[in-house]
Amino acid sequence: MQKIEHIGIAVKDIEESNKLFAKLLNTEHYKIEAVPSEGVITSFFQVGEVKIELLQATCESSAIHKFIENKGEGVHHIAFAVENVQSELTRLKSEGFEAIHQEGKDGADHKIIAFLHPKSTNRVLTEICSDKNAAK
Ligand code: ZN
Repeated sequence: MQKIEHIGIAVKDIEESNKLFAKLLNTEHYKIEAVPSEGVITSFFQVGEVKIELLQATCESSAIHKFIENKGEGVHHIAFAVENVQSELTRLKSEGFEAIHQEGKDGADHKIIAFLHPKSTNRVLTEICSDKNAAK
């Protein structure tokens, strides 16, 4: 793992939360991006080297919809930058972590991403990601 790349936060209303986080962080979000395959709209704020990713569900089958139903709004996942998602997944699985995605998939913000199951990570939903331009 190289660094914390971003922290994902589940919100009910991304427009309202964009205003709230703009005040909190004293900076505007720099992009909004839909990820239809995940049923989410995302927005991103840059805070030093780390990003904050707000996630709003766009359909009831979205994992974000289920998360908010169960737990309400709040911190959803921590994403770590890795050099290579596939080799890191192989390493993590060999250490006994359970992967939700068996291989890297397209995520927001030009990233290849994969998630680990929270039951194998002390209930911290963990994402690993690398830039799409780099090798998968
Ligand atoms: Zn994320």
